[in-house]
Amino acid sequence: MTNIYGSLINGEWHNVGNEIANINPSESSQVLGHLISANSSQIDDAVSSARHAQPLWSAVKLEDKKNILYAIGQELMDRSDEIGKILSSEEGKPFAEGRGEVFRAGEFYQYYAAECLRQIGESAASVRPNIDIEISREPIGVAGLITPWNFPIAIAAWKMGPALAYGNTVVLKPSELTPATAHSLAEVLDKHLPKGVFNMVQGAGDVGAALSASKVDAISFTGSVPTGKKIALAAVKNMARVQCEMGSKNPIVITKNADIDLAVAQSIHGAFGASGQKCTASSRLIVEDSIHDEFVEKFVKAAELKKVGHALAEGTELGPVVSEGQMNKILSYMDLAKSEGGTLLTGGGRAESEHEGYYLAPTIFTDTNNQMRVNKEEVFGPMTCIMRVDSYEEGLSLANDTEYGLSASIITNSVKEAQHYKRNAKFGSVLVNLATAGLDYHVPFGGRNASSYGPREQGEHAKDFYTIMKTSYTNPG
Ligand code: ADP
Repeated sequence: MTNIYGSLINGEWHNVGNEIANINPSESSQVLGHLISANSSQIDDAVSSARHAQPLWSAVKLEDKKNILYAIGQELMDRSDEIGKILSSEEGKPFAEGRGEVFRAGEFYQYYAAECLRQIGESAASVRPNIDIEISREPIGVAGLITPWNFPIAIAAWKMGPALAYGNTVVLKPSELTPATAHSLAEVLDKHLPKGVFNMVQGAGDVGAALSASKVDAISFTGSVPTGKKIALAAVKNMARVQCEMGSKNPIVITKNADIDLAVAQSIHGAFGASGQKCTASSRLIVEDSIHDEFVEKFVKAAELKKVGHALAEGTELGPVVSEGQMNKILSYMDLAKSEGGTLLTGGGRAESEHEGYYLAPTIFTDTNNQMRVNKEEVFGPMTCIMRVDSYEEGLSLANDTEYGLSASIITNSVKEAQHYKRNAKFGSVLVNLATAGLDYHVPFGGRNASSYGPREQGEHAKDFYTIMKTSYTNPG
């Protein structure tokens, strides 16, 4: 029997409609199941269901809300093996990463469970006598959440946790490439939440487009820049609040003062973790000339030791990329790097495997420059490009020379360089002696320029998006 992933609207599953096959990227002949695409009246029903449930959910006692979010988090953690296996099967990341992501999603819900009790307002003195002012926050209403495939449960968690904690209800549109993970998540949420508080519409971009044009009060999106722009325009038409987290081209500057082994370890983690399919992936390595050759030799050796394989196989360090479409796109960037004049040091194409899947070899180019398209456009795969510079100052200038601005690292033992970089790198996150990927969940996350639009996600700052402020004046008479 095939697995069916339908939509969840007001506590009811809708399992009939147009089907989209869910392919296992580790074994592409295997169909894991079929998602059932929501139709337009189901999308409207999902929004109406969330609208109806919102005042009821908002009125639930804070401690009860906290307990519900905590229990959701606990169940995800307890079932991280089971759901992690489903996630890795359809997304392709190694099982340890899939399980870790589900566990992390649980941590998000528990973090926001505690935030339920931390909703503390402000008071102010008035410029007029005898008047008291209070500043409080209220839910924004119904939030439409449109999520990608690369962190299918963690990203949903970091949007849904604050949405629910601050009294909003939700319609989630997960990626069409990871419907099974979304289905498992929806089952957990449905079990713990009152009907209609969480709704999910499955489907591809057309379903996302319909949701972003619907009467939701806010839309939070993570995905590509072109889609983010469309969603922002649709949201503005309805005067809905919008938050988009999109692509990037994250640099690591490695200076002559760096610990080279640390630089290698962080670059491997940043460039090849999750097969490079992260918006925080380290895709531009900017290395000072005097250490370039030593770094390159060690970096290539370390990359060649990485075991590419089936997501669920013991010992796999890099799984396949998510789909045939993504694989072809990444392969075309590998060809582009060659034609633009980059020197291929390792990889450059598909990796051998006993399985028929979307396996790519970790790929490193050097002798690239920042004018090349491969250093300007997001590749979203296991490929990174090295640029040689004469000084730290040139490195910083190249790092900042991008239309994006999500995450930037420096590897150095110089406090002066580290401090200067933290002050002058024009990115949402700046890291010292760490890769651009791997960020904590209780502090703000987001970028600048084309990487992000709207307020920050994560930590308590997420309330700036999911609440609206009220200023009350009282004249005691
Ligand atoms: P990626 O290429 O990483 O999948 P996308 O931006 O295409 O990035 O997809 C991210 C999410 O946005 C997915 O859930 C996808 O279905 C959805 N999506 C794609 N196109 C649109 C659109 N025009 N409007 C709204 N959502 C969309």
